[in-house]
Amino acid sequence: MQLQLLWKLQEYDLAISDLESKIESAPALSGKDELVEQLSSLKEDIESRESWLKEVKKTLKSLELRTQKIVDDRKEMHESMYGGKIGNVKELEQMQRRMDHLAAEKEGLEEKIITHMETIEELEELIKDNRSSLKDLEKELTLTEEKLAEEIGALQAELNRLAEKRAALASHVSERHLERYTNMRERHGGIALASAGSDICGACRVFISSALRGHLYNPDAMVYCENCGRLLVKIED
Ligand SMILES: [Zn+2]
Repeated sequence: MQLQLLWKLQEYDLAISDLESKIESAPALSGKDELVEQLSSLKEDIESRESWLKEVKKTLKSLELRTQKIVDDRKEMHESMYGGKIGNVKELEQMQRRMDHLAAEKEGLEEKIITHMETIEELEELIKDNRSSLKDLEKELTLTEEKLAEEIGALQAELNRLAEKRAALASHVSERHLERYTNMRERHGGIALASAGSDICGACRVFISSALRGHLYNPDAMVYCENCGRLLVKIED
């Protein structure tokens, strides 16, 4: 009778450790860690793109200022040249060369300005997309976390239910048997008892000698497998 109770106790204990490992592995299996990683990498991308955007905008601003300065300078030069202030031909020629030079610089600047404006547009579009992906990922993470909490809650409830049943059952097991069971469990990787059905040890599958088999019919005897050392229990169908 005591051995039968221990057998049931072991069933509870195995189910309990199974639930415990399910609870432990649930976060990794839920995909939560992966989502958290994706989120953090996306946030980094957005941050670096935003700082790049800021740089490009700054450069654009200085290109525009330089262009405006050229426009102003050329206007001033034009007024000097055609306002009759300068009569010296050499000086006029020099000024014309400078004006041509500035015009060429302005053309180059304008090309750069267009390229920078295009980069800004592309970056802004990309950041917008990234932000929308970020929102989706955050939503997915929230859902995953909710689902995970629900799953763990259910596993925990089942675990508590089994733990209560186990405690109730353990109160009917003699101290001697309980102590032996606990020791054996520690020594045999969590499985103290082996079924002795069909004359084979249910744990190590080794044949049980006829000398031992006789003892199995004595309900008070503790019989151990000669191979693996587990306590053998004759399971009543
Ligand atoms: Zn065995």
